[in-house]
Amino acid sequence: MQKKLILDSDLLDITISRLCQQLIERHGNFSETVIIGMQPRGIHLAEIIHARLQKDTKKEIPLGYLDATFYRDDFRRREIPAKANETRIDFIIEGKRVVLVDDVLFTGRTIRAAMDAMIAFGRPAKVELLVLIDRKYTRELPVAADYVGKAVNTLTSQRVLVELEAQGHKQNKIWLVN
Ligand code: 5GP
Ligand code: MG
Repeated sequence: MQKKLILDSDLLDITISRLCQQLIERHGNFSETVIIGMQPRGIHLAEIIHARLQKDTKKEIPLGYLDATFYRDDFRRREIPAKANETRIDFIIEGKRVVLVDDVLFTGRTIRAAMDAMIAFGRPAKVELLVLIDRKYTRELPVAADYVGKAVNTLTSQRVLVELEAQGHKQNKIWLVN
């Protein structure tokens, strides 16, 4: 196994700060904005961003979690755990500006499924996507992120390893693994 460091903890911190600044530029006082983290791996990032935004804006911003497992078109084809993670959206998304948060964007199928899963909760005014790592040229659907931490050239066979302190790692680090 070969590991190449893509983002160290300092750079990741700067990256997350920039993402928060971009969100603040576009969402102003966040009065109509909600944040939804994708289960299972997007929720830590969503929590980090949510906490920073609340601190910087001194506003209460709704935060929810969405699991799109059963909405995937390849649900029966892949080795996806039959057990879903918790979906928790205990606020109204009808008419809101939703920011979906995930760690890595790859084929785009998770996000397509997230759109389906979200419909059950209402019709947002707008949905945006924030990802920490955008794996370039691997998309199988026309999905693009509005906010990108870092775009990385990857082979389909490679894997991005996201290590966050929030997940029990010693330091925040993002690796590309062969
Ligand atoms: P997609 O549905 O776009 O093919 O894949 C994105 C989803 O799978 C995300 O929820 C993400 O957590 C996970 N994923 C896909 N590729 C990677 C990767 O290289 N590293 C990590 N950590 N997650 C990935
Ligand atoms: Mg996805």
